[in-house]
Amino acid sequence: MSITVDTVTPSSSPSTVPAPAKKKQVRRLTPDTSQRTRLIVQSLFVLLNAFLCVQFYFFVHYFESNATGPHVARPAGVDGWLPIAGLMNTRYFLSTGHVPAIHPAAMVLFLIFIASSLLLKRAFCSWLCPVGTLSEYLWKAGRKFFGRNLVLPRWLDVPLRGIKYLLMAFFVFIIGSMSATALQDFMVQPYGILADVKMLHFFLRIGGPALIVIVVLAALSVVIKNFWCRYACPYGAVVSLVSLLSPFKIRRDEEACIECGKCAKACPQNLPVDHLL
Ligand code: SF4
Repeated sequence: MSITVDTVTPSSSPSTVPAPAKKKQVRRLTPDTSQRTRLIVQSLFVLLNAFLCVQFYFFVHYFESNATGPHVARPAGVDGWLPIAGLMNTRYFLSTGHVPAIHPAAMVLFLIFIASSLLLKRAFCSWLCPVGTLSEYLWKAGRKFFGRNLVLPRWLDVPLRGIKYLLMAFFVFIIGSMSATALQDFMVQPYGILADVKMLHFFLRIGGPALIVIVVLAALSVVIKNFWCRYACPYGAVVSLVSLLSPFKIRRDEEACIECGKCAKACPQNLPVDHLL
């Protein structure tokens, strides 16, 4: 993206009013294609995950139907949907130095996503996570339909944002306090080995209460930007905390800023971009 920078003199003002400071004028020479690129990447990841789900479905179906029909290999990428296994395996790896035998890809993907947050902050959420993509398009649909999204008052927004950190702390505490032997014992149990199959069954045979929760979360995501991500996702909480260590920050060019506030209005995370230093 090319940008020219020059200096403009403010228009004349009445002699009694102090002249505003000179502002740097920034003109974009080429169109900004970042959002189109992001949409393409998001769409590719949704397609990739859909492909993994279908492949995994046929893998499980082969065994559940007494080996009738074609055999399909298990896609390792499905482990990306097992963040708790990823956390347990990471803890096991840190304790023993050995890569766990059950769901090793869960650990590898978990570590890749965490490393990406260290470098690129919440790029995982805004570019890769299919749940984040769905969430984003739900609030965009809501904005189109209702003309706006609801912004919760600060006294409610701040404590609600704490929920995801509490959930994260709960998992980190439970898993962090397990010994390597206990982790190993858990992962080699049928429940640990079949965690991916259980997840598939959860969605295929979803019960009334779980369906109600998902529908309520989806409905809230239509009216409130990124409801699930902002308030409830423990994975997002981990990514958020790690991203604090990133050397990259969103910065406002104070000299160029004309304080129109459009950046804050456009920000999907409701960041006060117009007040950042
Ligand atoms: S907050 Fe959670 S669900 Fe939302 S985009 Fe990030 S990881 Fe995905």
